[in-house]
Amino acid sequence: MLFYNIYKSRKNPVISFEIFPPKTADGIIKLKDKILPELVDLNPSFITVTYGAMGSTRDMTIELSSFIKNDLQFETACHLTCVGSTKNDINNILDRIQINNIRNIVALRGDPPSGSRQFKHHKDGYRYANELVTHIRKYEVKHDIDFGIAVAGYPEKHNEASSMDKDIENLKKKIKAGADIIITQLFFENEYFYEFIYTTKAANINKPIIPGLMPILSSKQIQRISSMCGSKIPDYLKDDLDQASNDDIKATKIGIDQCIKQANELLNKGVPGIHFYVLNRSEHIREIINQLEL
Ligand code: FAD
Repeated sequence: MLFYNIYKSRKNPVISFEIFPPKTADGIIKLKDKILPELVDLNPSFITVTYGAMGSTRDMTIELSSFIKNDLQFETACHLTCVGSTKNDINNILDRIQINNIRNIVALRGDPPSGSRQFKHHKDGYRYANELVTHIRKYEVKHDIDFGIAVAGYPEKHNEASSMDKDIENLKKKIKAGADIIITQLFFENEYFYEFIYTTKAANINKPIIPGLMPILSSKQIQRISSMCGSKIPDYLKDDLDQASNDDIKATKIGIDQCIKQANELLNKGVPGIHFYVLNRSEHIREIINQLEL
């Protein structure tokens, strides 16, 4: 089912998960044989698969999405970025997405590959996600096919944007190009999300905006992720995590409690769904799902 229909026909908030392609063969086997079936068992509406900065994990994005769709018979979405790709490369990837019966795409510009600070577009490729969305919509017409398209939104502003207003202006370009839904960057304070909803509404953006939440699994991991994506960790959470700096079990418990608290508050405010960055684990997400006030 396309994104548009998933959110339109919903009776309950739409719960979705995001995984990433593991780098090792053992990791892939474990994901396919154990983690994915366990995640499917939690009955989310769809599972998305991220797209690597470069290299072989990119092929794995389509392979894993195809596995979810065709082997597990479950709804999926493939992430796709502009990094390192020509327009022709993008057509080839869309061909593979189409052949594999995948119908939802999370369309992104992508981050610079590790080691480089600035995003550099391919001279025959695209600079911004809105251009990729336009490309996908044109591909649809040419191939007589429908795709659901999600794009990224940033409640704390994208780190390269000069202001929130500019960032929202650019988000609007992605909607105008044909995006169906917005999935947000992870955040640890719901106030940022509420403010974002207020600002996007004022800018006449009326597509479903899905908050993205990531349960913390260890103190070190979250410092790294939050510095990468610019999500602030509130002081009270930082203090709690500092006290658990050598105790991952305690840190995970703090992370799960924080995620449940954020999710339930968002659900009570009537969000259309929640997208969980599950980090290729199932046990902690099961605990979170079991405690949601759906
Ligand atoms: P854009 O929307 O293109 O924005 C990038 C910057 O350019 C922003 O500062 C924006 O304000 C500005 N901008 C946008 N359009 C224009 C324009 N037309 N003119 C001038 N300025 C403009 N990364 C991956 O590599 N793989 C993934 O699978 C992946 N999945 C993600 C999933 C989600 C839900 C999110 C929130 C992020 C994900 N990312 C992923 C990270 C993402 O690629 C980075 O955050 C990246 O830096 C920006 O991508 P974007 O699509 O938001 O870019």
